[in-house]
Amino acid sequence: MGKPTGFLEIERRDRGYAKPEERLKHYHEFIKPLPDADLRAQASRCMNCGIPFCHNGCPVNNMIPDWNHLVYADDWKNALETLHSTNNFPEFTGRICPAPCEAACTLNIEDTPVTIKSIECQIVDRGWEEGWITPQIAAVKTGKRVAVVGSGPAGMACAQQLARAGHAVTMFEKSDRIGGLLRYGIPDFKMEKHLINRRGQQMEAEGVEFRTSVEVGVMVSVPSLLENFDAVVMAGGAEQPRRVDWPGSELSGVRLAMEFLTQQNKRNAGDDELRAAPRGTLSAKDKHVVVIGGGDTGSDCVGTSNRQGALSVTQLEIMPRPPEKENKSLVWPDWPMRLRTSTSHDEGCERDWSVLTKRALGQRGVLEALECVRVEWIKGADGRQELREIEGSEFQLKADLVLLAMGFIGPRTTGMIEQSGVELDARGNVKADTLSYATSEARLFSCGDMRRGQSLVVWAIREGRQCARAVDEMLMGESLLPR
Ligand SMILES: Cc1cc2nc3c(=O)[nH]c(=O)nc-3n(C[C@H](O)[C@H](O)[C@H](O)COP(=O)(O)OP(=O)(O)OC[C@H]3O[C@@H](n4cnc5c(N)ncnc54)[C@H](O)[C@@H]3O)c2cc1C
Ligand code: SF4
Repeated sequence: MGKPTGFLEIERRDRGYAKPEERLKHYHEFIKPLPDADLRAQASRCMNCGIPFCHNGCPVNNMIPDWNHLVYADDWKNALETLHSTNNFPEFTGRICPAPCEAACTLNIEDTPVTIKSIECQIVDRGWEEGWITPQIAAVKTGKRVAVVGSGPAGMACAQQLARAGHAVTMFEKSDRIGGLLRYGIPDFKMEKHLINRRGQQMEAEGVEFRTSVEVGVMVSVPSLLENFDAVVMAGGAEQPRRVDWPGSELSGVRLAMEFLTQQNKRNAGDDELRAAPRGTLSAKDKHVVVIGGGDTGSDCVGTSNRQGALSVTQLEIMPRPPEKENKSLVWPDWPMRLRTSTSHDEGCERDWSVLTKRALGQRGVLEALECVRVEWIKGADGRQELREIEGSEFQLKADLVLLAMGFIGPRTTGMIEQSGVELDARGNVKADTLSYATSEARLFSCGDMRRGQSLVVWAIREGRQCARAVDEMLMGESLLPR
């Protein structure tokens, strides 16, 4: 613990943002890092608790008090090494993790947690600037070959760990670029894509071979992978979106959020419109946009719509409005259910809760409005919350573009999963436990959203790392990789 009285003397101060009117003009990141001296002061607020709840709050169990101390001591290089010992890609989580660590921080009991995520981000950004982050090439090659399918954060973490253990890793990705949802879901203004390219280059230097634009189960079969590789890891994400079947949902203005977000990310990457949008270009410009779904994906649609020049953006959520503030004595150090307002919301958006969409209205195939009704949630006979429409509360919203962002129900089963014959769990995800990561089929493993269902980048990294260790153990009989 660098400064025993730090938390008493120094107030919490976090990174700032460019003003909405400035940042809405572009798609770049707009976080303004703290000067190093101020960040070191923030790190000194860490109390190095006897039981560091932040360790458990963080899904990769980042050793937060250790690197806080090292940053305070101005020892950035060792802070970086400690950070990398649990997290392959802190520059991803340092930008887009919801930071359950900060919810679990003891100082959060008073709503002033250590600015853990910002410190994490600045350690790794400095590491890249200083040239401290270089390929970690395995000294000894094992002669074993592993195929990793899917290049999202789970596949990337898994592949990097396996390459560092000396295995020859080939990564198969059906998209034209690596990164999974980091690349084509999450907008550039939350995380710029050169960060993925830079890690990709590091991984290539460590021996990972990337095969993009190759869909396993279609262009390469699962049996052929099993024949050519000693182990196969399926990290294909949870790509099946929750859809709607209300009348009017077939109108051309009712679209999936991922179609909209992917197109914009491809435009930002310099792809031409046709390549970016094989089914026609989508734009929110001069449109009244309604986003259905109150989560991260919905919020990303809000930010993207505003950047494209929407006339209005409304976000609807079927669940009730959560409380502004949690009851700390009931939930701390767990992740609290409370109202979250993202930077995209701050840029301009109407938000409404307890709203159910009934139908889309339009003429000659063109969307004009959404018909909605207010709902209440009441306890049913079995104790579970049930939805009831409130009579007479129907209303219409003008809508030229409706973006469906109601989450993902699990992995796509056509192609790779069907061909592999692996068992699925009750929720439709690939069945594998978090010790062995082994599926029901020999030498076939699974991790990330494909195994656990729609989740977070930090959970994907954790699963990728742990799965790599399980594969290494299966191949070698033992493993030195951390779990
Ligand atoms: C719009 C959006 C915003 C989000 N924002 C955040 C956020 O701010 N913070 C956060 O922590 N999480 C966020 N998430 C969730 C996070 O992105 C995911 O939990 C995470 O990316 C899952 O990682 P993964 O590697 O398991 O899968 P993915 O990232 O989904 O990657 C899977 C990859 O596998 C490929 N693939 C699938 N099948 C095959 C096949 N048969 N052959 C070859 N390749 C295949 C896919 O093309 C894809 O590239 C967001 C999700 C979305 C959709
Ligand atoms: S990865 Fe997420 S939970 Fe872990 S320390 Fe970083 S911000 Fe916190």
